[in-house]
Amino acid sequence: MQSKNWIGGEWITPAGGESVVTNPSRTAEEVGVLRFSQPSHIFQAEQAARAAQKQWSQLTGAARGEILYQMAAALEAQAEELARLASREMGKQIGEMRGEVARGVSLLRYYAGEGVRANGNLIPSADTNVLQYSRRVPLGVVAVITPWNFPVAIPIWKIAPALICGNTVIWKPAENASLTATRLAEIFAETRLPAGVLNLVIGKGREIGTALIEEAVVDAVSFTGSSATGRQIAIACASRNIKYQTEMGGKNAAVILSDADLDKTVPAILSGAFRSAGQKCTATSRIIVERAIYQPFVERLQAAIAACRVGAALDPEVYLGPVASAEQYEKVGKYMAIASNHARVVAQSPEADAADEGYYIRPTVVEGVEAGHPLVQEEVFGPLAVLLQADGFDEAVELCNRTVYGLSASLFTRDLASAHRFLDVAEAGMVRVNQETAGVEYQAPFGGMKLSSSHTREQGQAALDFYSAVKTCAIKYAW
Ligand code: NAD
Repeated sequence: MQSKNWIGGEWITPAGGESVVTNPSRTAEEVGVLRFSQPSHIFQAEQAARAAQKQWSQLTGAARGEILYQMAAALEAQAEELARLASREMGKQIGEMRGEVARGVSLLRYYAGEGVRANGNLIPSADTNVLQYSRRVPLGVVAVITPWNFPVAIPIWKIAPALICGNTVIWKPAENASLTATRLAEIFAETRLPAGVLNLVIGKGREIGTALIEEAVVDAVSFTGSSATGRQIAIACASRNIKYQTEMGGKNAAVILSDADLDKTVPAILSGAFRSAGQKCTATSRIIVERAIYQPFVERLQAAIAACRVGAALDPEVYLGPVASAEQYEKVGKYMAIASNHARVVAQSPEADAADEGYYIRPTVVEGVEAGHPLVQEEVFGPLAVLLQADGFDEAVELCNRTVYGLSASLFTRDLASAHRFLDVAEAGMVRVNQETAGVEYQAPFGGMKLSSSHTREQGQAALDFYSAVKTCAIKYAW
């Protein structure tokens, strides 16, 4: 398969540079070829999105919703094929990838329903015979820039609310997820989505991303990716005074109090830290354990990790696949080397059971580093978690909050008072009790505090606030 752009309803294969995509589970296997766009493709997409926007916004919400329902049905029909392609492209274990595609279908249906839900408020006027109300109006053309780690769900949780609000979209996916993006656009092209409403441009962030953010006339940018890129995007958008949303990195903590139910807690820690090979922005990467139960907790964690199978992403029996790419393998590998030199490895899974060469990294938990150490402070984005001990609730919370990030945090306890206190004081956009740090549901707001986010929220009703402007309307209907 080859990547291609979808601009104004036409399929365009850029003539520029190309690169071969190999399967991270088996690097000898070619999955397809990427063709990289030039800035001119971005400007073409900008024109197509602008030309389509007025008519799209003038459809009723119900009519736009019908098209989103068609997109959901088309995706559901191709779910297995798309999940397998994404697994081969970026290494997410097939069971998880199926779940992600199913989430994409649910998101499309959820936002389709928004087409016929209330989109404003009646506001009493102090004057007589005045009808005053607020309503949402579209922003115009929205640039959507997405990472590779959720190649289906993240694009859809941006595109679906953007479209239902009456915007048109230029979507630039991550290089490592461009084949999946092409296939997703092909699936959506089977519906009655009008030409130019959704435009896909494949390419490198530093080449076409910059054209999209700094030169194209767009009305808003929704970005998910690293904090470094997000910061550049925020600066560019702020200087142009356009609306932006940046969802970025995390260093999420799970806190385990001494009264936690360890039988239930350990599987949640394992899943939070190692599903998707630790490549979730909400992955658990710090495990803060109350000293009194540290030893029994570690013993159970060791047993759980010893049973954790790493292998080819398409194998439904493995717990996690490889990391996504050679770059990821190298970056996570550097942290693994720091871990083996500066920390004590307390738990590690067996070697990958795949016979083939791939970017496999064994789930690893380490201890023995100070709270300020890079392993405790920097986002690894791989299957490596660090253990810290705390002398009680207050110290655990202090450690939990001692980070520049604030995406997700979890507490494990049986005590209701501790649970409520944690929900109050943990400095994170998503705070959970007796649940892993990952896995916030699509109908709930998603986003972070501190350096994890530009403080807007995605998903749920919150996304509608981002993808629209509020207009205050007033009419004096009798003098
Ligand atoms: P990245 O920042 O390298 O890339 C993200 C996207 O930005 C890609 O499409 C890339 O091509 C594009 N890009 C890169 N440079 C650009 C530029 N100068 N201008 C415009 N676009 C540019 O991130 P990644 O490696 O793809 O993703 C991993 C990161 O994403 C991790 O830090 C992870 O925590 C974060 N993430 C956050 C969330 C969240 O919701 N908070 C969710 C998933 C992933």
